[in-house]
Amino acid sequence: MRNVQPKASHYVGGAYAEDTAGAAIDVTYAATGEKVARLHAATPAIVEQALAAAEAARREWAALPGVERGRVLRRAADLLRERNRELSEIETIDTGKPLQETLVADAASAADALEWFGGIAAAVRGEHVQLGSDWAYTIREPLGVCVGIGAWNYPTQIAAWKAAPALACGNTMVFKPSEETPLCALNLAEILTEAGAPAGVFNVVQGRGDVGAALITDPRVAKVSLTGSVPTGRKVYSAAAEGMRHVTMELGGKSPMLVFDDADLDAAVGGAILGNFYSSGQICSNGTRVFVQSGIKEAFLERLTERLQGVVMGDPLDEAVNFGPLVSEAQLQKVLGHIEAGVAEGATLVTGGKRVQRDGWYVEPTVFADVTDGMSIAREEIFGPVASVLTFEDEAEGIARANATSFGLAAGVFTADLARAHRVAAAFEAGTCWINTYNLTPVEIGFGGSKQSGIGRENGLGAIEHFSQLKTVYVGMGGVDAPY
Ligand code: NAD
Repeated sequence: MRNVQPKASHYVGGAYAEDTAGAAIDVTYAATGEKVARLHAATPAIVEQALAAAEAARREWAALPGVERGRVLRRAADLLRERNRELSEIETIDTGKPLQETLVADAASAADALEWFGGIAAAVRGEHVQLGSDWAYTIREPLGVCVGIGAWNYPTQIAAWKAAPALACGNTMVFKPSEETPLCALNLAEILTEAGAPAGVFNVVQGRGDVGAALITDPRVAKVSLTGSVPTGRKVYSAAAEGMRHVTMELGGKSPMLVFDDADLDAAVGGAILGNFYSSGQICSNGTRVFVQSGIKEAFLERLTERLQGVVMGDPLDEAVNFGPLVSEAQLQKVLGHIEAGVAEGATLVTGGKRVQRDGWYVEPTVFADVTDGMSIAREEIFGPVASVLTFEDEAEGIARANATSFGLAAGVFTADLARAHRVAAAFEAGTCWINTYNLTPVEIGFGGSKQSGIGRENGLGAIEHFSQLKTVYVGMGGVDAPY
């Protein structure tokens, strides 16, 4: 295995920085439990240095023409692609996700974001409004210093999905990765420097929730973008509100997938596999409530079980492996607890359900049938390889039950009926919907949640609005008509 010990824990002002007084953060390879690197949480001194560096860099970076900022981002995209294999191996060691996945989904997605927002940077602009002989114009301005806080499931992608639109708009950023996966964002920071980003434009500090909390309450910070769970989102949102800061909240979900009896069965089963077992189920937008129209329940379960025979478990660094461990022992225990609850509540365990007898934190791909809406496995986010299959009779019932949740991140519908597909998509209470596919999130289109699943959008043009603000300038062309 490659050596993944970084040069230092943090990246501040265009260079690695260390303060070993910070609490240890060990990186463990989830496939074996082996410790592969040790980093340190940011001390108050490191947090201060990072915020000061971002603050010092922001005016000059914002003053550059968009096309120049964009060039830096596009160069970074090229470097990510050139180093895709190395970065994918580090991502696999950091997260435990199979190399088969990371080679196509992580640095590659980060590169797409940097390339796309790099192109958009030159087109960020305001508008002219004629008001008789007077007129006004608007300027789309950066917000200033932004804080990004990441979850552990897609550490490179999350850092880049935040950094790319933030930097394109002329902001600077201090990013705090999840303490579970501290390595990948450091590589992004190094690459941005190599691509020409001035010192301080993108900084990385490590740490747990306390470091995140210290960042978001600093008076220099204008915006916080969090990817994490709903409970953390509530804390971060309210802390940000104290200082009237802008927020983007990319939070958890318990998304529904409606499979009608006219659907292409294999496409629907494929959607359920991608939406429940890719990354061993550690994906926020997963369609973990699989509602199948009652007439096709048996055929659906049979085909799903059959196709799960294609799971190849093993060392995630082996490219033949397509199913890896969970990120940590704690996540493994949490997932096993949910499975136990499902059994105790009377759901039928169709396949899986156990910890795999080998080193590391593997849980079998698990499918429950005969799940009812009130069961905990149908209500709570599990963030592991556990699908709950429920049945429904007709469209109205399917929609009502799909929406009966406080989450609203994503939803999917599988049907051959074109009109119904769009009707159902319109009725879903979710930020991101798919018709006859699942979990595709290209940079060109917005991604994010409604209801408790979040505020704001990542990707697409919408992200530009969430990392900038409008200034309006009224221009008087005549005298001033005052009453006295
Ligand atoms: P988490 O909420 O435990 O932690 C997320 C991040 O917040 C971590 O970096 C953590 O250190 C930090 N944090 C914790 N407490 C904080 C505080 N008080 N102030 C500031 N920062 C704090 O989430 P996780 O377990 O790392 O990730 C899994 C969750 O993330 C799931 O709920 C999943 O659905 C969600 N997620 C959402 C998206 C999305 O785009 N919507 C994507 C990936 C993951």
